[in-house]
Order: sequence, then structure tokens, then C-alpha cells
Amino acid sequence: MEFLPVFFDIKGKPCVVIGGGDVAARKVAMLLNSGGKVTVVAPELCSTLRQQAESGEICHVQSRFSPAHLNEAIIVIAATDDRAVNKQVSDVANSYRLPVNVVDDPDYCSFIMPSVVDRSPVIVAVSTGGSSPVLARLLRARLETLIPGAYGRLATLADKFRGQVKQHFTESSQRRIFWENILQGPIAEMVFAGREDQASSALSKAIESSTGDAQPRGEVYLVGGGPGNPDLLTFRALRLMQQADVVVYDNLVTPPVLDMTRRDADRIFVGKQRANHAMRQEEINELLVKLAKEGKRVLRLKGGDPFIFGRGGEEIETLSAHQIPFQVVPGITAASGVASYAGIPLTHRDYAQACVFVTGHLKDGSMDLDWDMLARPNQTVVIYMGLLGLPVLCQQLVAHGLTSDTPAAIVQQGTTPSQKVVTGTLGSLPQLAKDAQLKPPTLIIVGKVVSLQGKLAWFTPDQEAEGNFALTRSK
Ligand code: SAH
Repeated sequence: MEFLPVFFDIKGKPCVVIGGGDVAARKVAMLLNSGGKVTVVAPELCSTLRQQAESGEICHVQSRFSPAHLNEAIIVIAATDDRAVNKQVSDVANSYRLPVNVVDDPDYCSFIMPSVVDRSPVIVAVSTGGSSPVLARLLRARLETLIPGAYGRLATLADKFRGQVKQHFTESSQRRIFWENILQGPIAEMVFAGREDQASSALSKAIESSTGDAQPRGEVYLVGGGPGNPDLLTFRALRLMQQADVVVYDNLVTPPVLDMTRRDADRIFVGKQRANHAMRQEEINELLVKLAKEGKRVLRLKGGDPFIFGRGGEEIETLSAHQIPFQVVPGITAASGVASYAGIPLTHRDYAQACVFVTGHLKDGSMDLDWDMLARPNQTVVIYMGLLGLPVLCQQLVAHGLTSDTPAAIVQQGTTPSQKVVTGTLGSLPQLAKDAQLKPPTLIIVGKVVSLQGKLAWFTPDQEAEGNFALTRSK
């Protein structure tokens, strides 16, 4: 290691920053966040620092640097735009044996400052030893996505019970195993879901029963996997996907999304069974209950959003009836993801003040929809599961008052490398869709907003990537 990583306690102690610009302001913010008593030495201050000086958060010495400014300091940062001054600060600090950082000038530094992920009291610091601050920032951004915002709260909970755990388990190895289970298990999930009181009482029970038996056992995560592109998963979805023991998924979940689940998790496909019959909903509900009762962390992974044409509600009703803990993670629903990637805004001040989502699933060859409501002007209608019924749909909308030149689009496998957008009108779309030989899943969008597509399309599917992205067949 080029440097010794340490965390320095500066609470209430004098810290001196030389320089009054924006760069200095960023360093001052770090020092203030860590409780330092900050003095800024500079002839002039930028507006942020000026406000902080006026409100008394920092002390301003209006002057050019002189060695006496470092008399009281325990740590020094030089952030002027004059290299000679920065060097002088560094020399003086070194002669006083004070730790000194010169911004962007590793040669003059006795310490460097890392990029920080702040989940106080949890702090993750990343350094490239000064060789590439940009790389450190990129790494930091990755860590930001992996470490839930609530880790700080988890650490606070752990701190509250630390003494008690130490008393209860005499062996340090017992304590380690106990904490490993708690910090990765359902009690941690309670904290992340904002149920701190519940977590606190579960933790105290877990300590009392010492074996950890008081912990709730299995749990189900009902997670929205979005419209197919793994970039569109939420941080929370990703985290739960990486910790679940078993994954129950259906045919809208694309291989790249499925690949984001834990490598060694069991995967159960419930989209299609032999003879192309999907596993019955009741069977899926039962399966989730059974797995959770075995103590597993079950990821129920669905396409889009679980509460939008996803039967998510039915699944968790069964769980609730069996008192199995669950949580629901929203996903980007097809309407939203597909419209964005196709360049069709769902609302627009000039064209549509409302947007309706409906399912175009055919029942006995006809579609049971409120056509008068759908044919209203100034709204966008998004039809899920509508490919088979497309001709009926277009006919009915025209029969109920929309003109046959109303713009309409059908989008195949939106957000993925196989995305295909076909635009036309209510009159022409059924034939155009047929000619395009679209593959499911497809989404239909009807309304004047579709006319913007020509101008707003931005996403160019990468056909080469299509192979390893292929969607499993959908309804
Ligand atoms: N819960 C899902 C919808 C399930 S219904 C959601 O919120 O998105 C299944 C229908 O969703 C498909 O028939 C299709 O109409 C639509 N759909 C899902 N993903 C899609 C995609 N990537 N491209 C186009 N349509 C999609």
C-alpha cells in the first residue's frame, strides 16, 4: 500500500484551509461534516464560504498565507490556485509536522483525501493513491449503488445492541456468527424497509434466545424486474436479487435481468409448463408459501412492476394469509420503460393530459373494455397484452369516436436490443404489425403523442447484442 488508510477524529479541533474558492469550499464541507472547527485563510471568499463565515460556521482570516496561521492547527489543507503558495503551505506544515493536503498536487501532500460513500456511521473511503481521482469517483459511484442508504441506520441498531450481545456471547466467534446472521438476514431487511421498532424487538428476542431462533424465518421479496433491460432495475431490486436463496420467475424476465440474481440461488421458472400451460396462479402462490416456510429468502421476480397487470396483489394476499413476511419492490412498468425507449412521451401539454393503461387480453375472441372511456380525446391509451386483439382494438376505438388517422404504435421487446417500433394510425396499424411479424412481448400506444416519435426516438437497439438478450416467449 502506498498510503496508510486511517479515519481521523477532528471533532472540535482546529483545522486550517488556505484558499477561499470553490475547491476550498468542498474541502471545508468535508471538514465540517466531520465536526472540525474550520478556519479559512484567504483574501477573498466564494459565495458558499462567505455565507458560512457570516453564519459563524467557519472562521475567516482575511489575509494572504503566513506561517503563523498554522500555529494552532492539527490538520492543514492548501487549496489556492497559486502553486507557489501551496508549496509554501506544505513546507511550513511539514516543518511543524502537521498533516497537510494540497489539492491536486500529490507531491506536496503528506495525506490524500479519498472519495467517500457516506452512510454514517458507516463510511467507505476509496483511493487510487492519487493516480486517478476520476477512477476513485467512478468506483465510489458503483459502491453507492451497492450499499443501501439505510446501512447507517443498520449500524446504529447494531451499536445499540453491541453491549448486550457482548455480554450474552462470551466467545468472540459466537458473536461474529450471530452478527453475520443478523446483518444479512430478515432483521436487517426490517431496518431497510423502515421498520426499526420491529427490528429492535426482533433483535432483542434473537439475543435472548441466543440461537437466533426468534428471527422470523423465510421471507418473500416481490420484485419488479422492469421491462427487460437490466440497467432499469432499482438499487433495492438488485440488492434483494443478490441475496435471495431461491428465484421464482416468469417468462417476461429477460436472461440479462435473471443473470443479476445470486449465482448459486435456485431458479424456478413458473412462466410455462409442459404443453405451454403456465403454472396456475394458485400453484405459484402455494409454491411461494412452501419455500418461505422452509426458511428461504424467496425472490418472486416479475417483469415490469408487480402491481401493474402482474397479479402481485394476489400473490401477497396468500402470503399475508399465511403470515409470511414479504416486501414489494416496484419496477419500471412496460408503459413507462417502453415509451421512453421508443421516444413517445405518454403525456404532453399539447396532446394528452391523461394516460390510461389497459389490458387487451382477449376473452372468447372479444375484448371487454370500456370503449367510450378509451376513445376520449386528449389522452394516451396504453394497451398491455394486446397483440392478438390489435385489429379488434383499432376497430372498436374508431367505432367509439376516435378518427382512423389517430396515431398509434406497437413496440416489440421495448428497452432491449430487440426493440422494434412500428408506427401508423388506427387504420393502418393492424396490417403494419402483421407485416412486421412482431415477437412478444409487445405494447400498443394510441394517441397524438405517437406523432412525436419520429423526432424523439433516441434509442438505437444494438442488434448484435440481441442474441444473448433474447426474451423468453411471453403471452
Ligand atoms: N407487470 C408488467 C406487465 C405484465 S403483462 C409490467 O408492469 O410491465 C405483460 C405485458 O406487458 C406484455 O404482454 C406486454 O404488453 C407488456 N410488456 C412487458 N414488457 C414489455 C416490453 N419489454 N416490451 C413491450 N411490451 C412489454
